[in-house]
Amino acid sequence: MLDVVRTDTTFEPSVLDGAKVWVGKCIHCNAKLVVAADGRSLGEATLEHIVPQTRGGTDDVTNLAIACARCNREKGKRHDHKRGERLDDVVATLQARRTARWRPKPDRS
Ligand SMILES: [Zn+2]
Repeated sequence: MLDVVRTDTTFEPSVLDGAKVWVGKCIHCNAKLVVAADGRSLGEATLEHIVPQTRGGTDDVTNLAIACARCNREKGKRHDHKRGERLDDVVATLQARRTARWRPKPDRS
């Protein structure tokens, strides 16, 4: 999850109760999401595959985004129940958003 947070410009370093965290936004609804400095989800943040794994989507960081648990569940439902062309629309929208938010990784490892 940390690689996704680092490459998403909506996520910024912050401090919560004295702990270093990242605060950013759900790829779908822009809900505020908090991820610990070590990449653990604090609350609702979940890892979302933009192209679903069932459609050949990979674990590459460019195919991953942070979504709130509610949106992730709802997108899963849409995938199950709507026609394939609608899924393609959802994927295209998410890919455009992910690209718009893209932040190159810092050189340090
Ligand atoms: Zn959401």
